Amino acid sequence: MAATLLQDGCRCCVLLLVQGVQPGHLFKHLCRLRRGVRTASTTCKHARDTGAVRWSGVVGLEIHTQINSNSKLFSSSRVQFAAPPNSTVSFFDASLPGTLPVINRRCVEAAVMTALALNCTINKKSLFDRKHYFYADLPAGYQITQQRLPIAVDGTLTYSCQVGRKWNQIVTKSVRIKQVQLEQDSGKSIHDDARRQTLIDLNRAGVGLMEVVMEPDMSCGEEAAAAVREMQLILQALGTSLANMSEGQMRVDANISVHRPGEPFGVRTEVKNINSARFLAKAIDYEIQRQTEVLDNGGTIMNETRAFDYKLGCTIPMRDKEGKQDYRFMPEPNLPPLILYDAQSLPTNNVDPAQVVNIDWIKERLPELPRVSRERLVVQYGILPEHSFILVNEDGLKEYYQTVVNMTKVDPRKIIGWVIKDLLGHLRQQNLTIKQSPVSPFSLAELLTILENGTISSAIAKQVFQELCKGEGKTPEQIVKEKNLGILQDRAHLEEICHGILEGHQKEVAEIRQGNVKILNKLIGLVQKTTNGRSDPVLVKTILEEKLL
Ligand code: ADP
Ligand code: MG
Repeated sequence: MAATLLQDGCRCCVLLLVQGVQPGHLFKHLCRLRRGVRTASTTCKHARDTGAVRWSGVVGLEIHTQINSNSKLFSSSRVQFAAPPNSTVSFFDASLPGTLPVINRRCVEAAVMTALALNCTINKKSLFDRKHYFYADLPAGYQITQQRLPIAVDGTLTYSCQVGRKWNQIVTKSVRIKQVQLEQDSGKSIHDDARRQTLIDLNRAGVGLMEVVMEPDMSCGEEAAAAVREMQLILQALGTSLANMSEGQMRVDANISVHRPGEPFGVRTEVKNINSARFLAKAIDYEIQRQTEVLDNGGTIMNETRAFDYKLGCTIPMRDKEGKQDYRFMPEPNLPPLILYDAQSLPTNNVDPAQVVNIDWIKERLPELPRVSRERLVVQYGILPEHSFILVNEDGLKEYYQTVVNMTKVDPRKIIGWVIKDLLGHLRQQNLTIKQSPVSPFSLAELLTILENGTISSAIAKQVFQELCKGEGKTPEQIVKEKNLGILQDRAHLEEICHGILEGHQKEVAEIRQGNVKILNKLIGLVQKTTNGRSDPVLVKTILEEKLL
């Protein structure tokens, strides 16, 4: 590893490996990288100002997503995540001679649906090709893909990034989609280092993939991560892929280069098989930084494939692409052209309409896409665009919020603060997902209802929320009762407390009487402190004002 990195010029990582870990050095290195990221993300042109030369990052993604279908692209074997090794393999998947592919309609429909959601033009005729390469987990020696004529071309993906000092601005961008193609997944090689052997699991062999190829329209890791997240949300809204990156249902290859604005694009490197949006952003920003440094030092960028080492936070070379691999593409002889129809071209005779894929039928049934959901939430609940962005982007948060809204009469604009600031804040701090939330939407709805109807004060509501976060299964009402947290509205009792506070704070009383009414809040706070946040703030204010003025 050290040798590889030495060649690669990642000086800081080399120092780490050769000289042993030097925390100070590592810190500086990471800071430098982070500074790079921040410069990039705030300008989002990703121009790196290095004296006379300004370099700008260029990023193009190729995204492979596994199609959510019961069976594989060309065989009837089951598709099941984490099934016992080699338990879902048909003769065709294992490439036994004499077996033939039969296309899975569901996979075709999923690709059409996805391509329509990405505003692509659907090719009514597309073709399958064999792409040859030799690898143990590819038993046929070739992958069936769509090289000459893919199922869809020329689309756009619109995505948004959160920017600004408080991340409270939403900037909308778009990236052009070059094509969407159908292809087979390969099997998996499992390397057993202890016994120095490689095992092959063919469960994944032949699972349907949609490859989405994007034009090089992005310029930094943050944009790429936002585009990938939007893709993931679209696929999940359509149901065409589960798109779970950590389970390998969505895998991203990032092509990265740098150039001076106005000049042709530079030589690119490709970072393969990234399976998390966070690592994707890191890998891209690292590559932009590395290439910039190489060029600034008079070096040249090699057209090579690299891998992201998430432990070291840097990319390392895998194999060079200089002598471009010859895949010996040839037409797949066992599959006829894939023909799709629209309302106008539906066949009238000899073809069962149920057996054809009708593009218009799919188009009419597209569900609400994430971008539309965000706009709808803003209009429907009167919430801010940045809040609706978070609701849609956090898995399960939109559903959580809507459940709370439906269960209480409290203004949705009040609920949003609790859901985003208090609930999400707590979950992020504890590293929990929405599903793992110790506070159910029902509990939050009940809490907000008793706050709204005046049973508790807002200070107590925060306290009850903290109790709910302990996940002991108690309802807000139970907590309020057990801890005696109900609001204090006994006027005589509150008057007595207010009297005591005024007696003890003559200086403040004098200031208020001289016209500095802001000091009144301090006295209200002191009453709340005495009553552990339980007193009715409106009543306390009235009493104090009566006594003072
Ligand atoms: P290939 O034929 O080598 O696969 P493509 O033209 O299909 O090349 O592009 C593959 C991917 O590389 C696309 O996602 C594209 O956006 C991206 N890409 C092409 N040129 C560049 C570049 N100079 N910098 C960054 N990405 C690029
Ligand atoms: Mg390509």
